[in-house]
Amino acid sequence: MKKIIDNFLAQVQERNQNEPEFMQAVTEVAENVIPYIVENDIYYGQNILLRMVEPERVVFFRVSWIDDQNEIQVNRGYRIEMNSAIGPYKGGLRFHPSVNLSVLKFLAFEQVFKNSLTTLPMGGGKGGSDFDPKGKSDNEVMRFCQSFMTELFRHIGPNRDIPAGDIGVGGREIGYLFGQYKRLKNEFTGVLTGKGVSWGGSLIRPEATGYGVVYFTQKMLENIGTSLEEKKVVISGSGNVAQFAAEKVIQLGGTVSTLSDSGGYIYDEEGIDSEKLDHVMNLKSVQRGRIQKYIERYPNAKFFAGKTPWEVPCDVALPCATQNELHKKDAVFLVKNGCVCVVEGANMPSTPEAIQTFAKNKVLFAPGKASNAGGVAVSGLEMAQNSLRYNWTREEVDSRLKNIMSEIHESCFEYGQEDGFVNYVKGANIAGFVKVADAMLAQGVV
Ligand code: NDP
Repeated sequence: MKKIIDNFLAQVQERNQNEPEFMQAVTEVAENVIPYIVENDIYYGQNILLRMVEPERVVFFRVSWIDDQNEIQVNRGYRIEMNSAIGPYKGGLRFHPSVNLSVLKFLAFEQVFKNSLTTLPMGGGKGGSDFDPKGKSDNEVMRFCQSFMTELFRHIGPNRDIPAGDIGVGGREIGYLFGQYKRLKNEFTGVLTGKGVSWGGSLIRPEATGYGVVYFTQKMLENIGTSLEEKKVVISGSGNVAQFAAEKVIQLGGTVSTLSDSGGYIYDEEGIDSEKLDHVMNLKSVQRGRIQKYIERYPNAKFFAGKTPWEVPCDVALPCATQNELHKKDAVFLVKNGCVCVVEGANMPSTPEAIQTFAKNKVLFAPGKASNAGGVAVSGLEMAQNSLRYNWTREEVDSRLKNIMSEIHESCFEYGQEDGFVNYVKGANIAGFVKVADAMLAQGVV
């Protein structure tokens, strides 16, 4: 088996030189899915995984725009249309200086499995730019978004490809992108998700990824006979996912001890309660400031510059910032300090070595493609509401989100059984694969 997997990965590597993040994502899937393919005749001999690792289409374009000093700036724009076997391409846009082809291909590949797990009819895609919204004025962000959409609009559409937000793309950016799409196409359609509620957005969409992560965590804990109540929870990041994961943990009786950004982390031993979290939300999403400023308002808390929060003792860890932010040494710390459950809010935040450390020590571990699928699931619900021209209530959307997270947990449980333990990585990879592979086989060699 090892030889088959190694041969496959060598073939993929040959075609995708200098794409370490993409190879990391493919390797994890191949290790779980190839043995399953070999055991199941309908998939064997169809080169199905080789087809899945090749994007259906990659769009790569120049984005020129003028900054506040009247200087012309040039960025790169991308859209990876990875797989449309079960529905139109769906996945976020990321604006961050670290964006490149490898990062977006890994995200698009993971998105295919994630969207399949939601049970909604969505294919997988991802896009973005190396543009950094941090430190830019609203006008600069608007001019960039307009220029970006002036090329992207011809490749997307409500039945073709429906982008959403991701790192660096929140409500403000979605607004500018949507405005430009509407102007160019002269039509008001649900071409983007994460829209404002008064212009086609869904209630609970901003909260959905973070809430979904915590609903998934609840299911995992329930499964071992416990709950989030009185659990100490360490969270990284302080953006969209981290903020609403923290909100839901607090609502369910857990204590949130940390939050972070790329400057370092804050540790509040007394716990970050709802009032303190409101302050963080204002600090990060309105003032667009640094998490370090938290300690000016709450001086009993400590700030650790340039560090990640995994050294803080906890019961549950929720990495919600970015890829490869939790390394083997961090996993060792978490295990040593008694952490029983790690649930990814970000995409691929744990390195393969960290995941192996959790597995070896029987720490429950959920990969982002399962546990953070709540965001895209509610995006799918936003698409449904746009098609119906109807808005569901907050309670309706939240209850659908809860059900979807519970179903994803069930799928991981079904496919991830291993010696009396649930291997959520294997479960998510195989469950996500089956639906897409079946659709691809039914649609012939295309
Ligand atoms: P935001 O832009 O709202 O927040 C990102 C957070 O992560 C910020 O606190 C940011 O800090 C921090 N961060 C970014 N890059 C780094 C880095 N290199 N090192 C340390 N910290 C970093 O993004 P989201 O919350 O939306 O996304 C977070 C993660 O969740 C991403 O992996 C994303 O792909 C994933 N995700 C998001 C979904 C969504 O619905 N938004 C859905 C599913 C997954 P700083 O402010 O300093 O940059």
